[in-house]
Amino acid sequence: MTDDSTPLEAEYAILKQKLATLDRELAVREAAKAAANNAARSVGAQLARLGHAAELAGVRFDNEVARRLYWSYPDVHVAEIANPMRVHEGQVSRYVGTGEAEKPCSNECGRTIVWHMRNRTDAHRQPRYCDECQAMRDARREQDRLEWTAREDAEHRATVEVLRAAVEGGVQIRRYADFPGVPHTWEIDENGVPLALRDER
Ligand SMILES: [Zn+2]
Repeated sequence: MTDDSTPLEAEYAILKQKLATLDRELAVREAAKAAANNAARSVGAQLARLGHAAELAGVRFDNEVARRLYWSYPDVHVAEIANPMRVHEGQVSRYVGTGEAEKPCSNECGRTIVWHMRNRTDAHRQPRYCDECQAMRDARREQDRLEWTAREDAEHRATVEVLRAAVEGGVQIRRYADFPGVPHTWEIDENGVPLALRDER
């Protein structure tokens, strides 16, 4: 048979495609991370300008804004928040209260959720969706998982059918075995005897 390697080559080609997709998605993720970081630094620069303006106006920086920045935007550095407040970085926590924040549900359903944070990095662990939207998302994810499993099962059954048809069509399935203490994997005959040995008997 001359086309023995064709299906294998096709599988390698699919792997190559899927890796290219993964590379693209990773690049998108990196770009998004860099863009978010740039946006955070831009906020920091604006805070510095605001600090100057507040000082010129003889007005203290809005503590409520400082509180939101501190608890809801961990990407904004404490030093950047301290800047317009005209306090030392280590003093910011005195002005920003406890980590209770009301946030809109990320699904934009109009409902709100409450974040309870013990420290700034807790913001990354807070819920993004209200209970209703979260339940909906969980249900959809479970549905996706079931569909994926069904698709995998169908593909597996199809592969088994192809193999069965090949065997029934007279294709010899090669069998391989490892032997304890003997290096390499050996092609064996129907009795489990390595072909390399059989020739010598
Ligand atoms: Zn919601």
